[in-house]
Amino acid sequence: MHAMVLKRLKTPLAWTELEDRRPAPNEIRIQVAACGVCRTDLHVLDGELPGPVFPIIPGHEIVGRVDAIGTAVKGLEPGERVGIPWLGHTDGVCPYCLMDRENLCDRALFTGFTRDGGYATAAIADARFAFPLGEAGNDVSLAPLLCAGLIGWRSLVSAGDGKKLGLFGFGAAAHILAQVAKWQGRSVYAFTKPGDTHTQAFALSLGAAWAGGSDERAPEPLDAAIIFAPVGALVPVALRAVRKGGRVVCAGIHMSDIPSFPYSFLWEERELVSVANLTRKDGIDFLHLAPQIGIVVKTTRYPLQKANQALADLRAGRFEGAAVLTP
Ligand SMILES: [Zn+2]
Ligand SMILES: [Zn+2]
Repeated sequence: MHAMVLKRLKTPLAWTELEDRRPAPNEIRIQVAACGVCRTDLHVLDGELPGPVFPIIPGHEIVGRVDAIGTAVKGLEPGERVGIPWLGHTDGVCPYCLMDRENLCDRALFTGFTRDGGYATAAIADARFAFPLGEAGNDVSLAPLLCAGLIGWRSLVSAGDGKKLGLFGFGAAAHILAQVAKWQGRSVYAFTKPGDTHTQAFALSLGAAWAGGSDERAPEPLDAAIIFAPVGALVPVALRAVRKGGRVVCAGIHMSDIPSFPYSFLWEERELVSVANLTRKDGIDFLHLAPQIGIVVKTTRYPLQKANQALADLRAGRFEGAAVLTP
């Protein structure tokens, strides 16, 4: 097998030939058909997340077909199409697992961060964390659903069921979530970088009720807001955009520092929460719903060996929607 491997922090990924691995009893091997590129991959490269394991193969939005099955795996067949998300393993016994919050597991492993991921021709996964994807939809369009879609979904659930929803940062996750929220009968208010009229037009084309820069005030108070951009300065901005009792959800795994702000921004029972990782239930719920919604995922495709280019383009905001690697 071949992979784009991160050997040290802040270095380009290197195209590397590796020995084919055999799955352990509870694992499967997947021939990778597509792997999405997520902002979290940039945080891994940049050393912004604690505890990476090197060398590591990034990538946690994997779509592929099962080609080898561990002896203890049940319910998956060779040739079956599956998706492998960020949550790669949990211990099942820690207090968080026992309270149905496996996203917070004390001993979780994360695909493409603390276990090898999908920037590769093949990947090994814990079979219990693989989602059967069926045959509807193409591999490239499905890949971004595995993180941008799933963690976006968890954030949307956390935001509550208010009708007026703000989305700060309109990249891979928000462009999927905007469609889900509209399908649910909500109005989406999309906030982009100041002056980014191109992305604002993209948001409006996906049905947003309003789009503007994060330096602009929403035309009316919002019920909730989700912050996808890794920018701590957006926290007080979003708090000011929501009504009394409104909720602000930080959806990213990493954010720059939050500047201090007057208590009045939080006053009147506004809430500020974060969303971490995902549970398998989030995945099952969302992947069940996604085909009914008819989400159109805007993708830019790169050959696997161009992963460094895809990451650079993500960092610079050079594409709309999501980048996807194909071997
Ligand atoms: Zn646990
Ligand atoms: Zn991700």
